[in-house]
Amino acid sequence: MAAKVTLTIDGREITAPAGEKLLWAALDHGIYIPHLCAFREEERPAASCRLCLVEVAGFRAPVAACALTVAAGMVVQTRSPRVDRLVRQAFALLLSRHRLACGQCPRNGDCALQEIARRRGLKLRREPLPPLDHDLPVDNSPATFYYDPGRCVLCGRCVWVCRHRAGVGAIGFVGRGLNRRVGTFGDVPLAQSSCTECGACVSVCPVGALVAKPAP
Ligand code: SF4
Ligand code: SF4
Repeated sequence: MAAKVTLTIDGREITAPAGEKLLWAALDHGIYIPHLCAFREEERPAASCRLCLVEVAGFRAPVAACALTVAAGMVVQTRSPRVDRLVRQAFALLLSRHRLACGQCPRNGDCALQEIARRRGLKLRREPLPPLDHDLPVDNSPATFYYDPGRCVLCGRCVWVCRHRAGVGAIGFVGRGLNRRVGTFGDVPLAQSSCTECGACVSVCPVGALVAKPAP
């Protein structure tokens, strides 16, 4: 049997398998920590969405729970004024590049942004940061799905599964800074890339950026 460690989260003592990341240990015990980009099987999570920050006793600054391995005696607080401020800022940054029009979105009601806003009492509004709309064209070229960069929050989940689960590597990040988006090698439409239309990326997109087309 795998070794277990005992730690405390929000005053609750829990046990988790040694080597487990803090985010999954907390979620396994019904302790909510917002998260967007992480996968459980990732050995080295990118921790890029900055939503899963927590306070850990002995650490000077909040740390990303997806990248921190549990340790015996660890004492964690999922909320603090500092964590709440940083998570609010990270969420605002995500929303600044997300075309917020829930009423027209196929993921309305099944969207990670809506869930995080609801569970953490955050505003689903594009403020205080200025919106970064680029009016980038939708890639409608695949027969079975489309990619709308205007809704993409650059979490990287699609890129990771295309490489590590599908074993294809058809997509990656292209462009820099504010122009960063998901694209293909050579920036060709998906239908002209090595994409096999397996749909793995569509199934993990947390928002309405990669969307399956209705069956004909
Ligand atoms: S459909 Fe499959 S092969 Fe195509 S981009 Fe998505 S994960 Fe990669
Ligand atoms: S398309 Fe979806 S899964 Fe891919 S980076 Fe954008 S939001 Fe994340």
